[in-house]
Amino acid sequence: MTQTIPHSMRVISTNEKMSQACREAVKPIGLVPTMGALHAGHLSLVDRARADNLTVAVSIFVNPAQFGDNDDLEKYPRDLEGDLELLRRHGVDLVYTPTVDEVYPEGFDTWVDVGPLAGKLEGLHRPGHFRGVATVVSKLFNVTRPDRAYFGQKDGQQTLVVLKLAKDLEMGVEVVVMPTIREPDGLALSSRNVQLSPEQRQAAPVLYRALCRAYRLWMDGERRGDALREAAREELQAEPRVDAIDYVSVAGMETLDELEQIEGRAMVSAAVHMGAVRLIDNIVLE
Ligand code: AMP
Repeated sequence: MTQTIPHSMRVISTNEKMSQACREAVKPIGLVPTMGALHAGHLSLVDRARADNLTVAVSIFVNPAQFGDNDDLEKYPRDLEGDLELLRRHGVDLVYTPTVDEVYPEGFDTWVDVGPLAGKLEGLHRPGHFRGVATVVSKLFNVTRPDRAYFGQKDGQQTLVVLKLAKDLEMGVEVVVMPTIREPDGLALSSRNVQLSPEQRQAAPVLYRALCRAYRLWMDGERRGDALREAAREELQAEPRVDAIDYVSVAGMETLDELEQIEGRAMVSAAVHMGAVRLIDNIVLE
């Protein structure tokens, strides 16, 4: 006879209760910060956290501070009930779902700025984005005091910003970076993918294809940054459903400065617009 082990998941929405729950929880604690509308990419982080830790906490918070005026805060997909069901099935112990007022109460005035690294690429096109990310991540770390925190390579620059933040401020958290989960056609899973029209969805794998083209050149021995950037850009430009290209980058993993010559680890990344949807993706050359 199979026995099901009852598993209770607590959903908590205040800082005070979450702090207390985490203080009382069995250590180590693994934290997975998310904005909800969960998919298999998020769940891969949850599963890894489950395997590594005795308590798994997931936060669901659409952080207004990381959205700009022209961003899609209002339209960002939300599905709390669906998310909670998935998290229950994946054995999560604590779900933290604070309101905006709980995270940014009246008078909130302390911000975390991660220096030049946060000003490149995404930071250039979404001013203030990483200030919002770094601030909310700091706050989540302080509320939950996790031993480990899990982030996806999908948001490549974000992982570098969080690693730097954790190191510079001695957060005492091990930051674990997990591989990008993709659809069979190569498109990186993203909560925003549901906003693509069927035609845009069909065309969207061009982003990964463009990065792969650069990757293949690099595998064949090409080391000029420009050659890789041009090849990826050419692929993107050949797709009429790409309405705009924010950037195509081949950058060093330390500073995210564009590379003339590739030596050591580098990240090929790009951001494009398809209608109202903005897609990002990256591949690490190593
Ligand atoms: P988000 O809800 O978009 O803020 O994402 C929460 C976490 O899940 C971040 O660390 C993301 O990098 C990660 N993530 C999002 N999409 C993927 C994916 N396709 N593969 C792996 N991790 C992902």
